[in-house]
Amino acid sequence: MTLTIQEKTFLMNSIRDIVDFPKPGIVFKDITTLLADKEAYGVLMKHLQERYASYELTHVAGIDARGFIFGAALAQMLGIGFVPIRKKGKLPYTTVSEKYTLEYGVDEVEVHIDAFSNIDSPKVLLIDDLIATGGTAYAAANLINKVGAECVEACFIMGLDFLSGQSKLRDIVNVYTVIGVD
Ligand code: AMP
Repeated sequence: MTLTIQEKTFLMNSIRDIVDFPKPGIVFKDITTLLADKEAYGVLMKHLQERYASYELTHVAGIDARGFIFGAALAQMLGIGFVPIRKKGKLPYTTVSEKYTLEYGVDEVEVHIDAFSNIDSPKVLLIDDLIATGGTAYAAANLINKVGAECVEACFIMGLDFLSGQSKLRDIVNVYTVIGVD
């Protein structure tokens, strides 16, 4: 159920740091190296499956774009639906949107107005690869609630703990980070 220190270290070592991307001063956490390693991706996804098996979720909602990779795989493993939360202008049907401030810019996320309406009383897990300032996830959790679903937890593979981005998000939803980065 909980990861051992060794498993956490293994996962952390499978993620690559790219210094000064996409702009000077940012250390970008590159999860493509984790994804390419079937052992690391497997350890991570099995851990998430075990954690969320008892949550009685109806959907996993993933944040554009890396949240799709973990979220869609997890939804299939849990036998539930997947909902994409996308950057502005990508979704074809009627949307609800929220603006937010990113660690490096300003952006807007959207979800289809009827995204969770295929099931009564939707219970949703929000997922993304990383929480930095928490602005993206805060907007995404608000969107889920706005369209009539309950966001029961927000899950991140990594949390940049030095940015304390989790505290505002914790006001509206339970937060779980697999790996904390100091
Ligand atoms: P934030 O809204 O500041 O919490 O930013 C989170 C979003 O930006 C996530 O979708 C991350 O994928 C991306 N992001 C922000 N900072 C980083 C970083 N240092 N490394 C990788 N992704 C990042």
